[in-house]
Amino acid sequence: MKISGHWFEPENSTRQEAYIELAGKAYSLVIDEQVQRSGSTQDISVSDRLGKMPRRLTWDDDAVFETTANEDVDVWLSEYGETSGFSLAIHRMESSWRWAAASIVIVAFVAFASFKWGIPAASEAIAERLPHSINKTVSRQALVTMDRLIFQESELDEQKQAEVQAQFDQLLAELPIESAEYELHFRDMFGMPNAMALPGGDIVVTDAFVNMVEHPQELDSVLLHEIGHVEHHHGMTQVIQASAVSIIVTLAFGDMSAIGEVAVGVPIFLMQNSYSRLHESEADSYAFENMLSQGKDPKYFASIITRLTMTDFDLDNPTDPDPDRGQPYFSSHPNSADRARRALQASQRAESP
Ligand SMILES: [Zn+2]
Repeated sequence: MKISGHWFEPENSTRQEAYIELAGKAYSLVIDEQVQRSGSTQDISVSDRLGKMPRRLTWDDDAVFETTANEDVDVWLSEYGETSGFSLAIHRMESSWRWAAASIVIVAFVAFASFKWGIPAASEAIAERLPHSINKTVSRQALVTMDRLIFQESELDEQKQAEVQAQFDQLLAELPIESAEYELHFRDMFGMPNAMALPGGDIVVTDAFVNMVEHPQELDSVLLHEIGHVEHHHGMTQVIQASAVSIIVTLAFGDMSAIGEVAVGVPIFLMQNSYSRLHESEADSYAFENMLSQGKDPKYFASIITRLTMTDFDLDNPTDPDPDRGQPYFSSHPNSADRARRALQASQRAESP
């Protein structure tokens, strides 16, 4: 059986056309009619199927083969999967006791909390209790996926990066949080301005965003907003909320694979969904409060978000499925207009104590 797709060498994001030839327990990976690697399918992990997203076959050295031939992969797995030892990525995850223990705790908690408080509150409670190591793992996976799909290397010069980094470090130093968990990443995103936070404290700023900043406090306000998302565990809350139903349903069958799906689906989820209005306003409040307590002015959040929205881009939302493109700013972005207004109100509170 032959499955075509793309091959990525370890630690190299160059895509090469390739196909994989499968015969029983043997595979060979072919590029330009040359066998690039071959061996036993036991050395390969296959990601779960997630809609139309490409499936990833990964090797221990982080080499990846990506294919959109989901049907073929399913056929192959169902015919030979069990006998070939072709393992699903989630099985590898399950074999780690940390994941297994966390899974049991999460499942028990989801079941209990969903009945007690309802799914949104339960998701939040679970997200708050997740160990940092899980957030970090999820965060890093998401960043790798995003690097492959939507990010390019930053072209900001070293001096500019150092400046922004220094400002970020200074900001963290003044916050009552575990600053070691945070890391700033510079990327380009097809020239679009954006900033986003991943659950483990990885904060990404794009070149266009950095270049758009006109006042240091504008940068502070957005970085604080992103830190607010991390401190409030918004990313994982939404992921868990979106998967809670499937987890509970799966519980009935005693099958842990739903947990695996959550882990595999996180990067995609984070890319495709923007935060809810409630989460945005919580992150905004976090930014305003901390700006005020550091003697800064939240009006700078209003100015940067207004400028950002005029470029047709909402913060944290890389895919920007904005249906109202091209309409006047305030009618097409009532949410951003509201947020700018709240920032100005916070600013006035500061001036008249
Ligand atoms: Zn946000």
